[in-house]
Amino acid sequence: MDKSKNPVYSRTDTTPVKLSNEEWQKILSPEVYYIARQKGTERPWTSKFENFKEVGTYYCAACGNPLFKSDTKFDSGCGWPSFYEPISKNSVIYLEDRSHGMIRTEVQCGRCQAHLGHVFDDGPPPTGLRYCINGVILDFEKAQDIEKEYKQQQKKS
Ligand SMILES: [Zn+2]
Repeated sequence: MDKSKNPVYSRTDTTPVKLSNEEWQKILSPEVYYIARQKGTERPWTSKFENFKEVGTYYCAACGNPLFKSDTKFDSGCGWPSFYEPISKNSVIYLEDRSHGMIRTEVQCGRCQAHLGHVFDDGPPPTGLRYCINGVILDFEKAQDIEKEYKQQQKKS
């Protein structure tokens, strides 16, 4: 996604972002807009993050808010990237979702309230939670430092 068109995107600014859908539409790609603002769901098994093992951090693709660490990601087999815990309590917010004849808990970005996915209580320890997240709304950044350390260790041995 071209982030130069997105003035609210920041990985360090924690100020809440409040924009109208009209404004969002101008700065987000159609795919991200569909998930973030229209509560869309990407087709299962379509995300490159679904079976993705790189070490790093997942950010909100709409605003840059840090959401999940790769070490809380697990293979849920459900077809969407799954995590058992967000980075911090304020990373995400929860809303009751009664759509599609189900009662589910919707997960939104704690900074810009983009729709991320849902949380279910059939996840692994230590939380027992499964954050089932649309890959489209995730922006991944590899952990550079960890990678450097790893390479240095390999050189030594
Ligand atoms: Zn966000």
